[in-house]
Amino acid sequence: MQSSGTNESDFPHTYREFVEKFYSNDACAAYLEELRWPTGFSCPICQAVGAPWRQTRGRLVCTACRHQTSVTTGTIMDKTRTPLTTWFEAAWHLTTAKNGLSAKTLEKTLGTSYRAAWAMLQRYRVSMGRSERERLSGTVEVDETLIGGVEQGGKRGRGTSKSIVVIAVEIKESKGFGRIRMRHIPDASGRNLRPFICDIVTPGSTVCTDGWVGYSGLSKHGYVHKKTLLSSSGDPAHVAMPGAHRVVSLFKRWILGTHQGSIVPAHLQSYLEEFTFRFNRRTSNSRGLVFRRLMEQALITGPITEADVTFGYDWSRHQTRRS
Ligand SMILES: [Zn+2]
Repeated sequence: MQSSGTNESDFPHTYREFVEKFYSNDACAAYLEELRWPTGFSCPICQAVGAPWRQTRGRLVCTACRHQTSVTTGTIMDKTRTPLTTWFEAAWHLTTAKNGLSAKTLEKTLGTSYRAAWAMLQRYRVSMGRSERERLSGTVEVDETLIGGVEQGGKRGRGTSKSIVVIAVEIKESKGFGRIRMRHIPDASGRNLRPFICDIVTPGSTVCTDGWVGYSGLSKHGYVHKKTLLSSSGDPAHVAMPGAHRVVSLFKRWILGTHQGSIVPAHLQSYLEEFTFRFNRRTSNSRGLVFRRLMEQALITGPITEADVTFGYDWSRHQTRRS
């Protein structure tokens, strides 16, 4: 009997299994093919279904219209010169190392150039961001923080050289945290804060914020808005939002530890996406499954240009889910 659909448990559980399974570029391509076309190849041009002709260097030719494609066409690995085995190894380390790894560490681990390691990480980060589509719900704490730059003691990020990041975290009744979302915003005005909340929190949820004017009007968008007013003495907002504060301190520690504290603002959102992907899967006890999920996302994330890799990806393409 022919099986239909992919076998969800088809992923390596250990590094040894990983090495045995993905020993060649062909073995990696076969795995990607199974993830991309779980019920068998279908032509991206004429939609014809059926086994393609196979040519050298992984080219697949539609038997109906003769269109040439490959398993990586239209994905983050499109036209890559990095071998698939290297892409796979990078994804494995990225998903199985407890805190991930920097481009510098990846460069040394894989023996690639720094540029190739950085480019893979940046592209995987876009795939990670893409996988965070489900909106948060229940009770959600929202707060902003300042990241990087020179400490200037400005209010609400006005007149500082730091980057402003808004954080949302689900608060569970057991005092634990659920999922998180983070966004680098140009300023802490309602123009940036409200759309963030509308994009990532399900209406009907309870949104907890401090009394900052940028959060006003949330109830008009269908949220139960619970405001904690701070004294006017300039108390740091994190006193009122302990969940968001905790997430921020974990993020800052991760940047200092794994990434030696260096982040340029143009790439900040990419790091926020990777951190979010990790945080939201922190209780998964199968790293191999996380690896498989990342490869699935890599196949449905469109190509990312060299300019995106170098100068920073335009995350606004992802951020507005509804107009
Ligand atoms: Zn075709």
